Amino acid sequence: MSKFIIITGGVVSSLGKGISGASIGKLLQLHGFKVNMIKCDPYINVDPGTMSPYQHGEVFVTVDGAEADLDLGHYERFLDVNMTKANTNTAGSIYQTVIDKERRGEYLGATVQVIPHITNEIKKRFCAFEKDFDVSIIEIGGTVGDIESLPFLEAARQLCLERGPQNVISVHVTLVPYISVAQELKTKPTQHSVNKLREVGIAPSMLICRTEKPLSEGLKNKISLFCSVAPKAVIECADAKSIYDVPLNFYKQKVDEQVIALLGLKPKHAVDENWFRFFDKALHPSQSVKIAVAGKYSELQDAYKSVNEALRHAGMNNDTKVEILYVNTEKDNVNEKLKAADGILIPGGFGTRGIEGKIETVRFARENKVPFLGICVGMQCAVIETARHLCGLADANSTEFNPATKDPVVDLTPQQKNVVYKGGTMRLGNYTADLEKGSLAHRLYGKDRIEERHRHRYEFNPAYVKTLREAGLKVSAWHEGVLPEIVEREDHPYFIAGQFHPEFGSRPQRPHPFFDGLVKAALKRKNGK
Ligand code: GLN
Repeated sequence: MSKFIIITGGVVSSLGKGISGASIGKLLQLHGFKVNMIKCDPYINVDPGTMSPYQHGEVFVTVDGAEADLDLGHYERFLDVNMTKANTNTAGSIYQTVIDKERRGEYLGATVQVIPHITNEIKKRFCAFEKDFDVSIIEIGGTVGDIESLPFLEAARQLCLERGPQNVISVHVTLVPYISVAQELKTKPTQHSVNKLREVGIAPSMLICRTEKPLSEGLKNKISLFCSVAPKAVIECADAKSIYDVPLNFYKQKVDEQVIALLGLKPKHAVDENWFRFFDKALHPSQSVKIAVAGKYSELQDAYKSVNEALRHAGMNNDTKVEILYVNTEKDNVNEKLKAADGILIPGGFGTRGIEGKIETVRFARENKVPFLGICVGMQCAVIETARHLCGLADANSTEFNPATKDPVVDLTPQQKNVVYKGGTMRLGNYTADLEKGSLAHRLYGKDRIEERHRHRYEFNPAYVKTLREAGLKVSAWHEGVLPEIVEREDHPYFIAGQFHPEFGSRPQRPHPFFDGLVKAALKRKNGK
């Protein structure tokens, strides 16, 4: 049986529960424990796939095709383990399972209720794969005190009752705000938040206190006394320069040692400190490049979380700081903005807004020989740009943006033509692609067959592959010989685009080859080579 750590958040949202959970998970992993991370989101959507990035930031995609909360991305990047559908739960998906069972007659005779039917389903998911892990870290989204997260908290309380406090502990992430006029840190919000948690029957063993200023011993003792948590378990968590600094910060405050003791685990070995050493070096690079990220959510960095991280990983492995230059393709004069960039990236996207600016962005990269990486819609824009400007197909478009286009160079995949339900029906998760030997893609990956994560409905229309090839845009990877997966140009220092999302698979110590290639090419350009 696994031990459990329940992570909750209080006072306000966006305190970084995901990073806190992933950091604790990382420390336990560095001790040699097998760690699982499970995310629970209290909203009614079955998954975040149908939500706007304004609501929810990026939608992360797992190898098995779940559309999930972006915290799963942190889990993957910290633990270097692939998440699956089993690592993500929403209230909607839990209710859907219970309601389906009710319709099948599995509860015949019973009144179906939040307790025990919903809470049993939640506990089932908490424990589904426990035998494979020493520790399961369960992060409950939202803020303690919300109506929505109550069933998840109730399930956690029951789990603690059933397994005992030596097997299930609670870690609460809270805010200690600094009031500048009084020049004081205030503990009252944390006290109230812990009271709220106690009201639902959960007593925290550790508090992760987000704060702008250092917590004095006096303040820690005060929080300890009022919240009934050991003084050493009041952890100071200031804003870090990099999220990868957080595990080291926790390690210095002996978070791992305390968690191991609270759960009665036997440490397998001391923490492997190589991970810290890697970041110590990687986070202090000697050179820098500017990469433009051209999309429509330039003001919302969470929308491109994994892209930003993948760029940073590529930077870390090239002794380079990647400065990201956000370009809003709907509002900005892209040709003006892109002048400052050493490399250009177009991330994934949906809908017509900002598309013409993205097509202009591709043109700028192609004509000025600026290193270019296109992701998903970024590849589709590269296809449209070539068709319009090099093949004389002035009306060329994706049927997503203009259903009546004379030249549908990007069109629905065959499986998508009759789709009615929008949720969970895109081409999702891992698909294979076979790479053309000797192509840029083949050189970057160094292998013949790849698997990459997808999330799209439209594709490069195979009927136009030959025409575009004659204009220099060649397909260098195919899925089962029928769907174009990668396009590239040979008359350009670095021009590559994929129908999939390479950013999701990038890890700090293993940058994705497309991003690594982009940073290397950008460095070359910057250094005038
Ligand atoms: N909107 C495009 C499609 O559905 C691209 C999606 C994406 O960039 N993830 O095919």
